Amino acid sequence: MSLDNLSNPDLLTDLWIGGKAVPASDGGRFDVLDPATGRVLTTVADGSVDDAIAAVDAADGAAAGWAATSPRERAEILRRAWELMTEQADDLAKLVTLENGKALADAKGEVAYAAEFFRWYSEEAVRAVGQLMTAPSGANKIMVLQQPVGICVLVTPWNFPAAMATRKIGPALAAGCTVVLKPASDTPLTALAMARILDEAGVPAGVVNVLPARRSGAVVSAMLHDPRVRKLSFTGSTEVGRVLLKEAADQVINCSMELGGNAPFLVFDDADLDAAVDGAMIAKMRNGGEACTAANRFYVQRGVAEEFGRRLAERMTALRMGPGLDDGVQLGPLVNTGAVDKVDELVQGAVDAGAEAVVGGRRPEDAAYSDGFFYEPTVLLGVRPGSPILDEEIFGPVAPIVTFDDENEAIRLANATEYGLVSYLYTGDLARGLRVSEALDSGMVGLNRGLVSDPAAPFGGTKQSGIGREGGHDGMLDYLESKYIAVTW
Ligand code: NAD
Repeated sequence: MSLDNLSNPDLLTDLWIGGKAVPASDGGRFDVLDPATGRVLTTVADGSVDDAIAAVDAADGAAAGWAATSPRERAEILRRAWELMTEQADDLAKLVTLENGKALADAKGEVAYAAEFFRWYSEEAVRAVGQLMTAPSGANKIMVLQQPVGICVLVTPWNFPAAMATRKIGPALAAGCTVVLKPASDTPLTALAMARILDEAGVPAGVVNVLPARRSGAVVSAMLHDPRVRKLSFTGSTEVGRVLLKEAADQVINCSMELGGNAPFLVFDDADLDAAVDGAMIAKMRNGGEACTAANRFYVQRGVAEEFGRRLAERMTALRMGPGLDDGVQLGPLVNTGAVDKVDELVQGAVDAGAEAVVGGRRPEDAAYSDGFFYEPTVLLGVRPGSPILDEEIFGPVAPIVTFDDENEAIRLANATEYGLVSYLYTGDLARGLRVSEALDSGMVGLNRGLVSDPAAPFGGTKQSGIGREGGHDGMLDYLESKYIAVTW
C-alpha cells in the first residue's frame, strides 16, 4: 500500500481488520469534524459489535504466528515503522491538526514523540529478559520466562491521536502480542493512518486491527467479554476508566489504565522566575492545554505570586490563536463544542466565586472564530479553594493561580486531589526540590521542567490517575506475563 497523501482525510476511512480496509458490517458511518471550522471533514465507518468480534478473530488468527517471530524480526519491523513515520511526519502532523485542531507545531511535536515509541520498542523487543536462579532450598532451579500476554484491546483518547496509539502498539508488538485498537471517535483518521504505516513496515495481516466506533461502550464491552482477549490498555478519563475496570473484572482481564490528571505546578520564591514562566507555558499550553499532564493548578509562593502572574499573563496574551494549519498559529481550537462549554463553565464558576480573569476568561468575540471551537488563553488570579476549577481537569488554555506561604502548605495543597499523574515544581534549592518531589503523591514529577513525557521513561500515575506504566522498559513488561518453571536437573 502506498503512503502517498497521508494527510488526505478521505484516503482511508473504513475499518482496518485482518490487513484490509472494510466497511462496517451494518454500513454505519459517522462524521469527523474539523474543530477549526465545525465543518465535516469526512465520514468514517462505525464499527459494530460484529465488527469488533471480527477484529478479535483477526487478532486471534495472527497471534500464534506473531508470537513465534524472532524478537529481532519484530524489532526490525518496528524500526521500519519509526522510519516511515519520520519520513511522513509532515503529512501525519497535518492529519492530526485537521481532526484534532491543535496547532501544527504541536502536531509535529506529537508525531515525532509518537514515532519514538516505535524506535524505543524496536530496541526493547530484544530485551524481554527472564531469570534463572537456584531455589533457596537448593532442591531445584527457578526459571522465569517472559511471554506475550495475548490479544490486547487498546482504547485511546482524542488528545494525542498518534502518540497514545503508538505508546500502546509499540510495546504490544515488541512483546509479541496482537491488538485491536479502538481510537476516539473525534480522531479516528490518525489511527487509520498508523494502520497503513504499520502495514507498509511489514506488520503481518491481523496483528494490528483498528476499529473506529461511535458505539464505544457496546464494542469495547463485547471484546472484554470475549474469552480470547487477555489485556485491556486504556487511556482516557478516570470516569470511563472506572467503567472499563468493572467490565474487565468479569473475565479478570489484565488492565493498564492511563487516566485523568490534575497536575499542580509549584513555584517557590527561590525559583528562577524566567525558567518557571517558560516551564509554565509548556506545562499549561502544550496541546492548547488538552493534555493529561497539563498544569491544572498553579500554586505560587506569596513573595513571587504577583510577578509570576503578571509575566504568565503577558506570555498568554502574546499567543497567536487561530486554525491550527495557519502559519504561526500557537493555539488552535479545542476539540469540540462540549469541550468549550466545559472550560467556560469552570472559568465562570471560579470568577463567580471571586477569582479575577486578568487575561481571557471567555470565548473569542471576533467573528473569525465563530464557527470553530475556540477559547481565549486565560489567567485567573485569586482562585478560591474549593472552586471546581481546582478539582477537575480543565483541558483548556486556562491557568488558575493560588498563593501559598510555606513548603508544607504547598505539598498539602498539591496532594489534595484524587488524581496523581504528574506534579511540577520550580525552586533554586536542589535539596528542597528533591524533598518536595519525594513528598508529592504522583507517578511523575517535573523538577525545574515543564515537560516530563519521554518514550524512554515510565509514564503513569498514582491514585485515580491509573494503573501501570507506559514507555521505558516498564512499558513492555505491561504486555508480558512471567512464566515460572520449577526444574530439577
Ligand atoms: P474518554 O474517557 O471520554 O474516552 C477515551 C476513550 O474511551 C475513547 O476512545 C472513547 O471513545 C472511549 N470510551 C468512552 N466511553 C466508553 C465506554 N463506556 N466504554 C468503552 N470505551 C469508551 O476520554 P477523552 O475525552 O477521549 O480523553 C481525555 C481524557 O483522557 C482526559 O481525562 C485525560 O486526562 C485522559 N488522558 C490520560 C492520559 C494518560 O496517559 N494518563 C493521556 C491522555 C489523555
